[in-house]
Amino acid sequence: MITKIIQEEKIQKAHKYIEKGNSFVIVSHVSPDGDSLGSSLALYHFLSNYGKDNVSVIVPNGFPSFYKWMPGSKEVIVYEKYTEFADQLISEADVIFCLDFNEPKRLDKMAPAVLAAEGRKVMVDHHLNPADFCRVVMSYPEMSSTSEMVFRLICRMGMFDLIDKKTAECIYTGMMTDTGSFTYHSNKPEIYTIIAELIKKGIDKDLIYRKVNQVYSEARLRLMGYVLYEKMKVYPEQQTALITLSQAELDTFNYQAGDAEGFVNLPLSIDGVAFSVFIREDVEYMKISLRSVGEFPCNKFAAAYFNGGGHQNASGGEFYGSLEEAVAVFEKGLIQFNPNNIEEMNMDA
Ligand code: 5GP
Ligand code: MN
Repeated sequence: MITKIIQEEKIQKAHKYIEKGNSFVIVSHVSPDGDSLGSSLALYHFLSNYGKDNVSVIVPNGFPSFYKWMPGSKEVIVYEKYTEFADQLISEADVIFCLDFNEPKRLDKMAPAVLAAEGRKVMVDHHLNPADFCRVVMSYPEMSSTSEMVFRLICRMGMFDLIDKKTAECIYTGMMTDTGSFTYHSNKPEIYTIIAELIKKGIDKDLIYRKVNQVYSEARLRLMGYVLYEKMKVYPEQQTALITLSQAELDTFNYQAGDAEGFVNLPLSIDGVAFSVFIREDVEYMKISLRSVGEFPCNKFAAAYFNGGGHQNASGGEFYGSLEEAVAVFEKGLIQFNPNNIEEMNMDA
């Protein structure tokens, strides 16, 4: 038995919407990751198994190739590419599930369409501070992942039997990727009860690990070598490390979406480094990834300096300006938020 985390009333409402609805849209955040895709596709498979044949998963932009093996990934509609079609699906949907994000901004260019839609919106998410744009808000930051919440939601509606192998594979992928393969945010015993159930559904967890983490190109590994040798700056006084990559550098290594995945975690393997930041030049802005170990709240750092947020140990944000300016903002931030001196930090600043 697993504990009842999601409020009963919310489960009932979602159940009713599912029962009565004919058309469903599942949306998730920009730059889809394993959990946004995993939770969305898991819900997609579940709804199909429940007998619903008008279900679409729509994401704002493309996703890395190492998620393309996921069952149902070929059906995912990329908003950037098929805007008109997606707009129509969104506006006509009876129910819109908003998975793995807490505020419309995370939908990027898709936000206006979702906000304007009349369908009943249900948020299933594990980020702090959910914005008020859904009828039903299931927001539980203590959960490892949105995928874990989808598992719990299905079970609480009494439909565990409708979780097939495909659904289970998607749920596991989200739980695995959002916890760094169970190396953070993953101490709750029930996570492993759920995994045991997923294995009984037929998933091969070791194979999923390999499909996500061990399918990189030679160029990506060389880029990683370059990053570690040339581009990692350590700030010992602040127990911090910074990695930056410009577009020109990325071009040199024939950068493909997803090639820099996980780089931000690398400096955390240095004894004494508790905070790591990675700034990557994107087309329109600088993409910032932040990770910490222990108590340092990198989501507060992301919110204060990079218009972002996320979890205590894994967050992100953006910066509009040059790489040099972004680094200057980061270094200024380190003065106020010094991970070596958490007690004296004014976290609310
Ligand atoms: P990543 O560094 O993998 O892109 O993001 C790590 C986590 O930070 C994500 O799971 C998400 O919770 C959060 N995050 C990433 N980018 C942003 C952003 O621009 N704004 C907010 N609020 N959160 C973000
Ligand atoms: Mn997530």
